[in-house]
Amino acid sequence: LMGQMMNMPLMISSLLKHAARHAADTEIVSKRVEGDLHRTTWSALEKRARQLAQAFARLGCQPGERIGTLAWNGYRHLEIYYASAGSQLVTHTINPRLFPEQIAWIANDAADGVLCFDLSFLPLIEKLAGELKTVRHFVLMTDRAHMPAATTVPNLLCYEELVEAEDGHYQWPVFDENTACTICYTSGTTGNPKGAVYSHRSTVLHAYGAALPDAMDCSSREVILPVVPMFHVNAWGIPYTAALVGAKLVMPGPHLDGKSLYELFEAEKVSFSAGVPTVWLGLITFMKANGLKFSSFKRTVIGGSACPPAMMKTLQEDFGVEVVHAWGMTELSPLGTLSKLKSKHDSLDRESQQRLLEKQGRAIYGIDMAIIDEAGHALPWDGQASGNLVVKGQWVINSYFNLRVSPLVEVDGEPGWFPTGDVATIDADGFMQITDRSKDVIKSGGEWISSIDLENIAMAHPAVHEAAAISAKHPKWDERPLLVVVRKPGATLTREEMLAFFDGRIAKWQIPDDVAFVDEIPHTATGKMQKLKLREQFKDYKLP
Ligand code: ADP
Repeated sequence: LMGQMMNMPLMISSLLKHAARHAADTEIVSKRVEGDLHRTTWSALEKRARQLAQAFARLGCQPGERIGTLAWNGYRHLEIYYASAGSQLVTHTINPRLFPEQIAWIANDAADGVLCFDLSFLPLIEKLAGELKTVRHFVLMTDRAHMPAATTVPNLLCYEELVEAEDGHYQWPVFDENTACTICYTSGTTGNPKGAVYSHRSTVLHAYGAALPDAMDCSSREVILPVVPMFHVNAWGIPYTAALVGAKLVMPGPHLDGKSLYELFEAEKVSFSAGVPTVWLGLITFMKANGLKFSSFKRTVIGGSACPPAMMKTLQEDFGVEVVHAWGMTELSPLGTLSKLKSKHDSLDRESQQRLLEKQGRAIYGIDMAIIDEAGHALPWDGQASGNLVVKGQWVINSYFNLRVSPLVEVDGEPGWFPTGDVATIDADGFMQITDRSKDVIKSGGEWISSIDLENIAMAHPAVHEAAAISAKHPKWDERPLLVVVRKPGATLTREEMLAFFDGRIAKWQIPDDVAFVDEIPHTATGKMQKLKLREQFKDYKLP
């Protein structure tokens, strides 16, 4: 017997239509590149997205064509998300923090036909335009008044003029839900960027999953400020989840420094946010220096790299912000796990609860996970055994764009698992904990030392601003940990004091052999510590 229910394809446009109908006057507030604050609503945005879809059609865009973006978080970027996916085109967000050559490489690989970009990136595009072989139309995301008097970008179009020329008499088409809607490239922390091609179906299911109470826990009552950029895995799905629940959105534009963020959080009464650990460093430093508190900000999701427990503690205890630690990756759209306590954990003491919350957490329904040994056998969920983390699920990639080789592996003979490249433990309650990226583990005499554990301890020292643990060559042990530290401004900290801080906090043989103080740790385009670069920088380092 077959079910007798309506079969409605899961369309991205349906999220926007729902928001326009049920959260019509709910605001989307954007700090613009032009400097001012812009306010619109879900219903107004839906109308402009229809106009933009008409404009893309007028530019001759064909189904499946890629619309590249180089843009901050803002309403125009959101309009492009919905207009292109909604009209069967494919949004391709490009991370502007990549090197110019990487940007050109990615735009050419994706074969972007249209490239939309914020004013801040005009100089970059003036340099790159000649190398962007497939781009037929360059669109500057601004109004007529801000268009440059002269530019070398060929036939530069004005975004507002394109939108205003259309009447919005457009019906969102319905098509196969497995059609591509977005391409995101991995930021290349571990090699060449690879494209993940999301579908309407995977994106809508991810938006449902993200909104769940044990995930981002979003409702129409929320005011959400995504600090995570829309060019970093679709701002972790927030542009879609916000529409699904009808929440207010606050977009920070390019202004991500502590002061600008704090003022925006307060002025717009932001209740929820999300971002990688490094972005919170600036905000915390600014607020501490000025003795400030939040009046509305209650909860944030932190992920993308391990959230140091000290940062969790500061946000929770000093600023009253609940931190939900999350793990994910581009290949997972990106959400995989989030750390929320079960009711059975209510009776635990604060410290035991904290230890659970510091883990990367439990899988959302839709994601299946396992840890495996080198031979591909599943390891037990006992919180002890550590192995390579593999996943499968509705919003996990099956293959990479333009690459023929399947990335998938078998687990105990069952095919179809995606290897994440992370090493993890999983406990009996399903709490997953990343101990390392397989490439970052420090292999000391056949034993593995978790670089994350060492960094978490170092970050708890009051004089430490940021710390990275990397492997340094050792004649006897092959590799030994070297701790690279950035001190807080004005703080004094010696090598001996730093090493003494590890005493009693970790097994003796895991304590780093040496400490190198630096002014800055290099970060990737998505704000993660760039260990590959650090390892290169310290490749000839002589341990004492
Ligand atoms: P890239 O691989 O280019 O850095 P992603 O943003 O997709 O781009 O990164 C995914 C990786 O980031 C994961 O495989 C994992 O190594 C790391 N990561 C993400 N969240 C966490 C977390 N909460 N703790 C530790 N590592 C994390």
